Amino acid sequence: MTVKTRFAPSPTGMLHIGGARTALFSWLYARHFGGEFVLRIEDTDKERSTDEATQVILDGLQWLGLDWDGEPVYQGARQEQHIAAVNQLLDEGKAYRCYCSKEKLDTMREKQRIEGRKAMYDGTCRHLAAPDIPQDAPYVVRFKSAEEGETWVKDLVLGDVCFPNVELDDLILQRTDGTPTYNLAVVVDDAEMGITHVVRGSDHLNNSPRQIQLYEALGLQVPAFAHIPLIHGADGAKMSKRHGSVAITEYREKGYLACAVNNYLARLGWSHGDEEVFTMEQLIEHFDLQHVGKGAARFDQDKLDWLNAHWIKNSSAEALLPAVQRLLDYETTDGPALLQVIPCLQERSKNLLDLVAGAALFYVAPQEYQEKAVKKNFKEGTWDLLAKFVRKAETAAWSGEAAQQWIEDICASEGVNMGKLAQPIRVLIAGVPVSPPMDATLGLLGKDETLKRIQRGVNKLQAAA
Ligand code: GLU
Repeated sequence: MTVKTRFAPSPTGMLHIGGARTALFSWLYARHFGGEFVLRIEDTDKERSTDEATQVILDGLQWLGLDWDGEPVYQGARQEQHIAAVNQLLDEGKAYRCYCSKEKLDTMREKQRIEGRKAMYDGTCRHLAAPDIPQDAPYVVRFKSAEEGETWVKDLVLGDVCFPNVELDDLILQRTDGTPTYNLAVVVDDAEMGITHVVRGSDHLNNSPRQIQLYEALGLQVPAFAHIPLIHGADGAKMSKRHGSVAITEYREKGYLACAVNNYLARLGWSHGDEEVFTMEQLIEHFDLQHVGKGAARFDQDKLDWLNAHWIKNSSAEALLPAVQRLLDYETTDGPALLQVIPCLQERSKNLLDLVAGAALFYVAPQEYQEKAVKKNFKEGTWDLLAKFVRKAETAAWSGEAAQQWIEDICASEGVNMGKLAQPIRVLIAGVPVSPPMDATLGLLGKDETLKRIQRGVNKLQAAA
């Protein structure tokens, strides 16, 4: 059997961290087995579904690299097949028309509430005799659920879960306006698309016994189920905006690498021994459903940040380049190649936004100089040290290493530590007393730009003194 999984988001909101993890697990499972992963956009709720939300979902999946096989299927376009299934069930006496009005259902529920019973449809119309069937009255179509026995969900994550059938009332398959409901559509579509494993959030567990009964009533093969426990915030409460539950693409804007987010999401609920760091290839190789935890996972921002820093440090500059370019808010045409700048910032960047901020010094000359740094690093003897450096640079062959050596030599012959000259140079070229190591920085910035910035800074600061 070829494994075929799917991700079936409703485009009624953003693709948040929980949805992205469900998609990742479903994708990993398919890729692990060399199977297929398909995408179905469940856009049947016309009022709440939007094209923008669909686009955000596709964009998020693409960013994470969770590629789907074939074209996405739009559930809304499959209404005919859904209705055909409803009609099949009606014809076979496995479903019935229910004429109960909203008022009647409200009264029924209120009575059940007062009696301390679970609110569920009491089956009035299931047993309507022919003469009692109203003509031309609006109706919904309900499924004749099993009245006795149990339905077992043999879940690949949660284990075997038993649902007594008396607790499952006759669910609506088709609404008064003729539209099919989620439980019906999902069964028809998963069956037709040949889904072998339904991997989804555990908030859908309660739908599964109903869906299993529907598969059986329609004579369709029941797929395997894997319900992934939900994600909670660090405080144990359900994940919300407060915990950083934002659109997954916002992580991209905040300087996270897709591989770090995938690595983090995979470890959020799934484990492989004590290992924390995985490439996508390793995740595909090792992923299984047996090692997905049964309990809710806790979101841990620090761990995500740690993995992001790890992957920034351990990726090639070529791999980082597109993500860095996307976040740039300045031009990089005048200056060294970004590919050469990235490596000297990887070690010190926790985040791609740090890296972008750090790289700015190579492309944007400082407009001002941090007051605190000027006060601390510019003293009586500073101008003379700088003048010596400039003179040396003007007469000798330039390289980053050579420039670093001149700084060391000048400081040694003046009997001061290297910071006395290196820090003022940093302030003059970057505006702040931080930069990657001197030799790399000056090598990349080049002689002309370095001297230009030093000269301009010296003039400005001396004029202000
Ligand atoms: N469309 C459903 C949702 O977004 C998922 C349905 C399913 O996975 O079965 O929650």
